[in-house]
Amino acid sequence: MDKKILTRSLRYHYKKSSTKTPSTVLSEAMPKIPVAVVVKNTNERRDPYEVARRRMITEQLLPRGIKDERVIAAMGRVKRHEFVTSGMENQAYLDRPLQIGFGQTISQPLIVALMTEELKLSGNERVLEIGTGSGYQAAVLAEIVEHVFSIERIPDLSERAAVAINAAGYRNVTLKIGDGSLGWKEKAPFDRIIVTAGAPCVPDALKEQLSNGGFLVIPVGDEEIQNLNIIRKDGDVFQKRIATACRFVRLVGQQGWSEK
Ligand code: SAH
Repeated sequence: MDKKILTRSLRYHYKKSSTKTPSTVLSEAMPKIPVAVVVKNTNERRDPYEVARRRMITEQLLPRGIKDERVIAAMGRVKRHEFVTSGMENQAYLDRPLQIGFGQTISQPLIVALMTEELKLSGNERVLEIGTGSGYQAAVLAEIVEHVFSIERIPDLSERAAVAINAAGYRNVTLKIGDGSLGWKEKAPFDRIIVTAGAPCVPDALKEQLSNGGFLVIPVGDEEIQNLNIIRKDGDVFQKRIATACRFVRLVGQQGWSEK
C-alpha cells in the first residue's frame, strides 16, 4: 500500500469522525493493511518536524525556483533539526541561518538548496565541501552523491558534525579538521567543490583539485557581502557565472582571509 495514500485516507477518515482515534479509524478503514506498513507510518508520524520540513520545501524552496528533484528529495529527507544546536530544534526549519557556536552559522535552507542545485549533480560524484559547520550541507550532499569529503577548521564543530552525521546513518562522508582553502590534495581530484564560507578570491588550490568538466561553487567578495560564483573547469579555462549575492561567514586560511 502506498504510504502517501494511507496517510491521506487516514486523515480523511479522522476528520469525518471526531469520536474515534486515528488508530481505531485506521483499523476499521483499512483492516487488511500489513502490520509492517502501519508501523512504518506510525514512526514517521512521530517525527515532530515532518510537517515543518515539508513546509520548508513548499513555502521556501519551490516558490523561489528550486527545481532539481534530487535536491528537493534530499532536503525532504535530511532532518535539519538534528544538525542545529541543541535547544534550537524548533527554529531549524525557519527561513534563515542559525548560530551554531564559535561565531559560525548553519546556512538558510534556500541557500543550501541553491548551492546544491548549482553543483548540477547526477549522483556518482565525489564532492569536496569546505566548511563542514553543522554537517547539514554534507548530509544533503550525502543523500545525493557517491562520497562527500568535508573540511572544517574548528575542531569542536567538526566533532559535533561527525556525531550528527553518524547518528543520521550516513556512511559516505569523510571529515577532516584543517584549512580547507588548501583543498585536500590526497583525495583530489573532485568532481565538484562547494565552499560554504566567503572567500576574498578563488583559492588556486581548489581550482587545481577540480576535475576537468567539474563545477566549483564559492561565495567571493568582501567580508560583508559576496557573489555566489559558479565556476566550470574546461582544461585550462575557467568559466565564471554569478548566481546571486549572498552573505557568508569568512573563509579563514592561507588562501582565504587572515585570522583576526
Ligand atoms: N556548511 C555548513 C555551514 C558552515 S558555516 C553547514 O551546513 O552548517 C562556514 C564554516 O566554514 C564554519 O564552520 C567555519 O568555521 C568554516 N571555515 C572557515 N574557514 C575555513 C577553512 N579555511 N577551512 C575549513 N573550514 C573553514
